[in-house]
Amino acid sequence: MICVSIKARTSEEAAGLLRRAKAEGAHVAEVRADLIPRPDLSKILADKPLPVIVTARPKWEGGDWSGDETSRILLLNEAGRGGADYIDLEYKAYKELPDISSKVIVSYHDFGHVPANLAATARKMELLKPHAIKIACRANSTRDVLELAKLSTGPGALRSVIAMGEWGEPLRILYGKRGGLMTYACFDEESATAPGQVSLRDLVELYAADRIDDDTRVYGVVGNPVRQSRGPALWNRAFRRLGWNSAYVRVPLDDPSSLRDAIQTFDLSGVSVTVPHKQAVIERLDEVDATADRIGAVNTIVRRDGRLVGSNTDWLGALQAIREGCERAFGSESVAGKKCLLIGAGGTGRAILYGLMSAGAEVVVTNRDWDRASDLAQEFGAKPIPLEAVEQVVDPDIIVNATRVGMAPHEAESLVPRSLLGAGQVCFDAVYTPAETRFLREAAEAGAEIVPGRRMFVLQAAAQFKLFTGEDVPAEMLDEWERLAG
Ligand code: NAP
Repeated sequence: MICVSIKARTSEEAAGLLRRAKAEGAHVAEVRADLIPRPDLSKILADKPLPVIVTARPKWEGGDWSGDETSRILLLNEAGRGGADYIDLEYKAYKELPDISSKVIVSYHDFGHVPANLAATARKMELLKPHAIKIACRANSTRDVLELAKLSTGPGALRSVIAMGEWGEPLRILYGKRGGLMTYACFDEESATAPGQVSLRDLVELYAADRIDDDTRVYGVVGNPVRQSRGPALWNRAFRRLGWNSAYVRVPLDDPSSLRDAIQTFDLSGVSVTVPHKQAVIERLDEVDATADRIGAVNTIVRRDGRLVGSNTDWLGALQAIREGCERAFGSESVAGKKCLLIGAGGTGRAILYGLMSAGAEVVVTNRDWDRASDLAQEFGAKPIPLEAVEQVVDPDIIVNATRVGMAPHEAESLVPRSLLGAGQVCFDAVYTPAETRFLREAAEAGAEIVPGRRMFVLQAAAQFKLFTGEDVPAEMLDEWERLAG
């Protein structure tokens, strides 16, 4: 179930937000009576369009209720009489539950961290025999989230376990995978009542979170940070279009040592790997295919019969994007024998060099750090050139930027001198935010055929889709992906 937390300034506004919650797909709403000055619960609950939890969270539990305990209980009793379906009571305040006509949710909040003895606390909360227990703690790491996820079910009452803060997003979405009772949503960031709440719209429309269960095939992107990933927008749209019971989530991963546990805990069938873990995950896998091994980086992990197998689709996406540019510029997608200038010797530079060399291109590699350029060129049989001497490269057919220059904070910069740019040339920038970099803008002005980084992004994701699911992304979906990625 998806429960939206109602943060209102008046009782009228709260009643209106209950109607909005219902209309936007929530199953339950939680009215935070402590946030409403002089709440009129009979007015709020009179025509409630969906089941309602009422709570008056005291200041000592992170809420705003500053009145005394007697008036708080009176208010909650009034809520019960007024038709509240559930009353949320704080575990710390009760040795036994007061006599309230509604179902009781016993809750525990820690806005600082995940305490060590939480499993024991959860069992003690269940001894009060409530309808459900709610545990919400601030997660400060991936490990914290995994610990919380493992508490999502217990032998006693139903449970809602929430990992607050940016690390907790996967549990907020995948609560159903872990057998949890419900997740708490906000309408938008401004109306959030706890850090890291996912919006109701995203839970309903993007993730279809209420339909995620044991049978759902879940995929995710791991990285740090991973907030900026466009993956959920692309993948979940494709799953909806295909009518599959699948979901794709962001899993912030601080330490690759938590990778296997994260995959198991969230039952991930496939994982996209992004910065900074593409190299570090390798030693955590059971197998790495020959190409990823040669490139030295993994951006795709597939779980096959319980084994984790690493692959690389970055090189495929980049090569295919460059080939498409060649088809437009030269009438043939072949890069064999084409003179290429590759700028960048990081993870993406390596993958692109592998692709270009295996397709028969003649590549000159340059990089800010000369040793990296020289080592990389030697490893793959390309020619290194110092960045300062790049203007000496004669008439390159293809120019590739595989550095961070072009994205923030280097949006105003380009490593490609204008003198190298011209018509009859393909210019590809791996950078995809912003969509148009200075390099690509200047290349287009010089008459070159340009290939934006989002094309690589979409094509590497399509190759990943095939590895994850065994099926091709529908062709019309690729166009939509490109719009969403831009
Ligand atoms: P990386 O491994 O950290 O390598 C960074 C590269 O950028 C190195 O060559 C580095 O040179 C260079 N660099 C960074 N700052 C620079 C500066 N101020 N001046 C000159 N060179 C600079 O990163 P990566 O994973 O290869 O990513 C590189 C780019 O590719 C990023 O912009 C990323 O967003 C993009 N990318 C795109 C896709 C896609 O699907 N389109 C996929 C993956 C990555 P040094 O060796 O001298 O430090």
